[in-house]
Order: sequence, then structure tokens, then C-alpha cells
Amino acid sequence: MEILQDLSLNELQKVVENLGEKPYRAKQIFENLYLGKNLNEMTNVPKELKEKLLEKFVDEPIKIVEVQKSSDGTQKFAYKLFDGHIIEGVLMCYSYGNTLCVSTQVGCAMGCKFCASTLNGMARNLSAGEILSQILVVNKLLGGTAKKRQITNVVLMGSGEPLENFENVCKFLFLATSKDGINISARNISLSTCGIVPKIKKLSKLGLPIILTISLHAPNDEIRKTIMPIANKYSVKEIVDASKIYFNATGRRVIFEYALIEGVNDTKECAKELSKLVKGFPSHVNLIPLNPVEERVLKATTRKKAEEFLKELTSLGVSATIRRTIGEDIDGACGQLRNKILKQTQDEKSS
Ligand code: SAH
Repeated sequence: MEILQDLSLNELQKVVENLGEKPYRAKQIFENLYLGKNLNEMTNVPKELKEKLLEKFVDEPIKIVEVQKSSDGTQKFAYKLFDGHIIEGVLMCYSYGNTLCVSTQVGCAMGCKFCASTLNGMARNLSAGEILSQILVVNKLLGGTAKKRQITNVVLMGSGEPLENFENVCKFLFLATSKDGINISARNISLSTCGIVPKIKKLSKLGLPIILTISLHAPNDEIRKTIMPIANKYSVKEIVDASKIYFNATGRRVIFEYALIEGVNDTKECAKELSKLVKGFPSHVNLIPLNPVEERVLKATTRKKAEEFLKELTSLGVSATIRRTIGEDIDGACGQLRNKILKQTQDEKSS
């Protein structure tokens, strides 16, 4: 089965014409899709046309099955895909707007030691329309439309490694920024990667001014290898060099994510080494207190030590901040809500 949300307006027009229908029907369906409606909910589309489309396309590619609300306004969603897989996302509300964190794969294959998304491996890539639909259904839930969007920013920081699903992510970027659709500015989209060097270079060539975020988490290969298997493939130097290429191509400063983990990457020496790496080109270091994951042994650095780390970086001329933790009272860290739901389903099956 195929997904209508995978199609651009032009592609949908071809499908509709091939079914012998008038072209304006495509526009009508497209507008409905961007209101977050399923085919069955489109009251202005003739029944016969809907039936023809339903022979080829799924009606509801994605459905919100659980919402957790944090006391700080953060909301966490679990979505069910048409084939039964569960993915998740987080909505963060700021004074300047609402940011939705979307998943790009079902689970993740990267194996980072601190991350819950990768605990059950990776089941499959999400299609462009499945990534887009996460925005459409949450926008609808918030009472938004395509013209009056309730989601201002999108971050590709949910489950999965976006650059391992390169083609679909590129199509998603094209659809999400299209004026025909929800028309999100590329400048308001961030893509986070563990550092797939050749794909960062490929992304640079798109010339889209999206924000590139690199999950660095270590100042050298030795430490990085102990927490991120991808470090065996690409060195920290190669990643930083690729980031510079990205900056030169897009003019956007690169963000380095650095989760502070007690006894692993939080010493003064680490801060010094990190500063040498990232200095000299427009970038920013986002220090994140590690979000402890039940199944993982790694612990967060204390607040005091995190502040010392920040002070050291700043004194060495590095632009850095400690990211405020949000949604801590819900299953905020990557993959946590999905894992909880998977566990519940397993418990139900075995009981
Ligand atoms: N695969 C991509 C995007 C998904 S992870 C990437 O690696 O960037 C989104 C971000 O959350 C990454 O920076 C990741 O390293 C971070 N992250 C994952 N688990 C975390 C945890 N337990 N605490 C803090 N940050 C975490």
C-alpha cells in the first residue's frame, strides 16, 4: 500500500488524472491532507473517487495513540503506523512558537550507549509522508490548519538516524517547505545526526538552509568509541571538517550536541579538547544533562560540574549553553515512551 502524503501536489495531480478525474480534485484532496484529514473524512470528495484511491493508498498512515502532558507544557505523543509499528514525538512550547520533534525511522540502528531509541534495533525507515504526517496530525490536534500552522519549528531529533534514511528525509524536506503545503521555512527545521560524514557533505549540496546539529558527545575518538559505535567509522576530525563544509555551503552555524555523562566526557581536559575542535568557525555547543534511561547505566553529570564545564568552554571562547531540560516528568528522552508501549504490549501478550 502507498501513502498519499508521500506525494507532492504535482504527483497527486498525475494520480488523479490517471483515474480519469478532473485536476481540481487533486488540489481538493491535497488541501484536506494538509488539514490532517483521512480520505474517509474528506466530505467534499466524491465517494467513488475515494474508493478508487483506497484501492491503492492507506487511509490513515499514522494515528496518535497516546499523549503524555508534562507540567511545563511539553507533550509526548505515541503514533501508530498503518502497519502497526509505534513511533514517537515530542512537542515543546516556547515563547516564540511550538517545536515538534519528529522520528525518521522506527527505532534506530546506531547503538549509542545512552539512547533508548536504539534498544530494540531499527525496524524500518519512515517514508517522507510518514515523517510529514507526524506534523499534520499534531497540527490538527492543536487546532491548526495549513495556513494557520500551530507548529512553527520542526526538529528531526526523534527516533532514528535521519541521514541513514537520506532519500526519504530529502523528500520530506521538500514537502514540508513547499508553498503548496504547510510551507515551513527551511530555516526553522533542524536535522540532528550522529555524524554520517558522506551524507553531511551530500546534504550541504542541497543548498537548503536547515540547521545541522551534530551529536558529538565526546571531544576525541577514544571516548566517542566507548559510547557511540559510529565513531569506529568516522573520526571526530572528519565530522568537524564536514560541518565546516556545511557551514560554507549554507551559511548556517552548526550546533554540536554534547550530553554530559558522569566520569565519561565531563572533565576539564574534555572541555579544553572540545574547544580546540570547534573553535574557529561559527558553531555552538549545546550541553545537555544526560536524560537517564532505565535500561542504561550511564549517569548525568551533576549540575555543578556541568556549570564548570560550561565556564571552561566559555573562557576558551566557545559559544555554549546548557540546554534546559524539559518534559522530565514524562518519558522525555528519545525512545522512552515507545519502549514503554512496546513493553506493555509484550507484557499483555505474555500474560
Ligand atoms: N540519530 C540522530 C537523531 C536522534 S537523537 C542523532 O544522533 O543526532 C536526538 C538527540 O538526543 C541526539 O543528540 C542524541 O544524542 C540525544 N540523546 C539520546 N539519548 C539521550 C539521553 N538519554 N540524554 C540526552 N540526550 C540524548
